[in-house]
Amino acid sequence: MKQKDYIEMENRLGAHNYKPLNAVLSKGEGVWVWDVEGNKYLDCLSAYSAVNQGHCHPKIREAMVEQLQKLTLTSRAFRNDQLAPFYEEICELTNSHKVLPMNSGAEAVESVIKTVRKWGYEVKGVPEDQAEIIVCEENFHGRTITIVSFSTDPTARAGFGPYTPGFKIIPFGDAEALEKAITPNTVGFMVEPIQGEAGVKIPTAGYLKKCKEICTKHEIVLILDEIQTGLGRTGKMLAEEHDGIEADLTVVGKALAGGFYPVSAVLSNTEVMSVLQPGEHGSTFGGNPLACAVARASLKVLVEEGMVENAFNMGEYFVGQLKQIKNPLIKEIRGRGLMIGVEFNPEAGGARQYCEKLQEKGLLCKETHDNIIRFAPPLIITKDIIDWAVERIQSVIGT
Ligand SMILES: *Cc1c(COP(=O)(O)O)cnc(C)c1O
Repeated sequence: MKQKDYIEMENRLGAHNYKPLNAVLSKGEGVWVWDVEGNKYLDCLSAYSAVNQGHCHPKIREAMVEQLQKLTLTSRAFRNDQLAPFYEEICELTNSHKVLPMNSGAEAVESVIKTVRKWGYEVKGVPEDQAEIIVCEENFHGRTITIVSFSTDPTARAGFGPYTPGFKIIPFGDAEALEKAITPNTVGFMVEPIQGEAGVKIPTAGYLKKCKEICTKHEIVLILDEIQTGLGRTGKMLAEEHDGIEADLTVVGKALAGGFYPVSAVLSNTEVMSVLQPGEHGSTFGGNPLACAVARASLKVLVEEGMVENAFNMGEYFVGQLKQIKNPLIKEIRGRGLMIGVEFNPEAGGARQYCEKLQEKGLLCKETHDNIIRFAPPLIITKDIIDWAVERIQSVIGT
């Protein structure tokens, strides 16, 4: 089948909830992917940071194949021999005390909301059904009804009501607004260290530190959604390290399984998670042995192969090179580690056209909102490949 036949069939039979670039991919290796017609591309999106380790990493594949020949699913009705080692390894790496394993990112966010509400009633003493969680404008935490209830993106939210109550929305990057929004019923504050889907929005240094102080002062659980920023993407294992803090609860997903499998987790530094008792929350697939084996290997290669440091160094280099590109229509180039955004002025007429031209040059990128291109290649990218990429980016967006 030709590329256009796949596209026609997909458009005819599938829900149109995405607007993908027209590259039908059939193979991936490291930072590269190939389409069904043999064209080769540099992946500058990494499946929204789910393939930080690079496509089809051989060591993760090996761990997955080995595990799937032994045992794949027990359900949590029984124990399995991959779960405890996974807990120990992820706790050690992220300096956490307790883990709640789930599958998708949205599920882990839902789990965190349930946990914090219950903690509010049982420990903080908030009256029944009155718990409030504070979140930020332009947040992206997933697609469930509860999560879109507190989205400020009309495309993500409109038409899906009735909405879940119990959320208060404040501007991102504004610690004072957080303090003002707190009431005796506030149980948690949930925020992304860098807003990825909003277009790589980086708050000023010290923002998270201030938030942490405010949360501690008012007995509020600080929840960081590190599903996109975590596991090396920003040049640290967790993005919270840039501010020298530890969240009370941290949500990770995406790269936790190197793109092989959906695995997510809530990590807890405090006793908050102890409010969950047997039967009160769960998931048939959460913590299954295959997921745990894949996650263990995914974490191991991140560390062993120095991917976190490489993200830090290559991120600085990439941003430095991009900043040499001259075009008055570029509003800002910003990044932390390999989470990089190039924002255009509205007069540029949208970032999508550039993404389509970059595809012709062999780079797969995706616009976020209208005017921003995100560059987030796998963390194994090298200087030579960045040079190769910048040459092509220059030819498309430079003047
Ligand atoms: C991708 C993402 C999610 C949702 O994860 P899914 O696995 O798609 O449900 C939540 N929060 C952030 C910050 C994300 O980037």
